[in-house]
Amino acid sequence: MADLLITNATLPDGRTGMDVLVAGGRIVNVSPRINAASAEVVDAGGNLLTPPFVDAHFHMDATLSYGLPRVNQSGTLLEGIALWGELKPLLTQEAIVERALRYCDWAVAKGLLAIRSHVDVCDPRLLAVEALLHVKESVKPYLDLQLVAFPQDGVLRSANGVELLKKALAMGVDVVGGIPHFERTMHDGTESVRILCEIAADAGLLVDMHCDETDDPNSRHVETLAMQSLRLGMQGRVNGSHLTSMHSMDNYYVSKLIPLMHEAGVSAIANPLINITIQGRHDTYPKRRGMTRVPELMAAGITVAMGHDCVMDPWYGLGSGDMLEVASMGLHVAQMTSQAGMRACFDAVTVNAAKILHLDGYGIAPGNRADFVLLQARDPVEAIRLRATRLAVYRAGRRIAQAPPAIASLHIPDRPAQVDWTLH
Ligand SMILES: [Zn+2]
Repeated sequence: MADLLITNATLPDGRTGMDVLVAGGRIVNVSPRINAASAEVVDAGGNLLTPPFVDAHFHMDATLSYGLPRVNQSGTLLEGIALWGELKPLLTQEAIVERALRYCDWAVAKGLLAIRSHVDVCDPRLLAVEALLHVKESVKPYLDLQLVAFPQDGVLRSANGVELLKKALAMGVDVVGGIPHFERTMHDGTESVRILCEIAADAGLLVDMHCDETDDPNSRHVETLAMQSLRLGMQGRVNGSHLTSMHSMDNYYVSKLIPLMHEAGVSAIANPLINITIQGRHDTYPKRRGMTRVPELMAAGITVAMGHDCVMDPWYGLGSGDMLEVASMGLHVAQMTSQAGMRACFDAVTVNAAKILHLDGYGIAPGNRADFVLLQARDPVEAIRLRATRLAVYRAGRRIAQAPPAIASLHIPDRPAQVDWTLH
């Protein structure tokens, strides 16, 4: 007998009336009207059953620290970095673990079951690295946490940057990070990309750099990143995060850059909630949006994901781990309001992000682990519009979170008693 049968689900690709059969924690069949005995049967009622949300870019060592040691009054990137500097010496491993685990609870409840988190490796104690490695193990049964060795202060700019980064990798951190635009000079930035890509290539690791997170159109480290990916044969293993300078670059230059990124197999992660609040701060009017060129990158065949980046930390005092909020902001900022564009924004927080993380067996298909989320929505566009309620979240066929449907009672004569905001 099977363990779980979900009936009458809609899938993100538009198939309706689909049943999903689970046995031994794996999906064994996805078809209409499956006739099989199962210990538990759940009627999806035509609602959307999606693979879990994936956050491709996050900072779990800083999350939920909002207000410590004080609130970011200006809301700017620079005050945020200064605040993080004030907070770092006060951090304890226990406090980082406690806040990270709390955030993972939020994430699971929102159907977010895989997160790539950068972890600052510039602290000689590597306190946050130890803490997040511990968290990674603790949450393994229900959440995939992938860690990036992130030299926040610049791998060349900070003392012993390279050694500390290598030490973090030796301790078990998965991915090589970087921040070339924050090094002292353009030349140092270029050099940092070379050094970090070589470290990753030698160790067989993926690369994910904070790259060109600036409004300066001359910040072109993404070109170097693509060139190193080509030189070292790392196609499909290198990602540029933020890439906000691309927003301000000359169109002619970009017309050459995007094909190079495609040839080099470099993927991109935009962080719309953060980019829209932090970029363009030196502008008067008109103010630049500052998000990278998401639709153009996608049109060129480049894998693009959208990340949350921050939740309640020195840089951003909002957020709840809801990747539908991220997709919604990305959709608005990029003006991706076509039907295909809106669906692509849903992909940016699900399949595209899973591809960048190299997640194994992701998706609602036979043979994959039975991870999925039942949303109170009929399709991906409605899910984004409503930040749809996560009715049930499954990991390996086991329900690990659930929430009641969002329904309001009306007390108006001659009107329906209940309203649920769907059009069905
Ligand atoms: Zn970041």
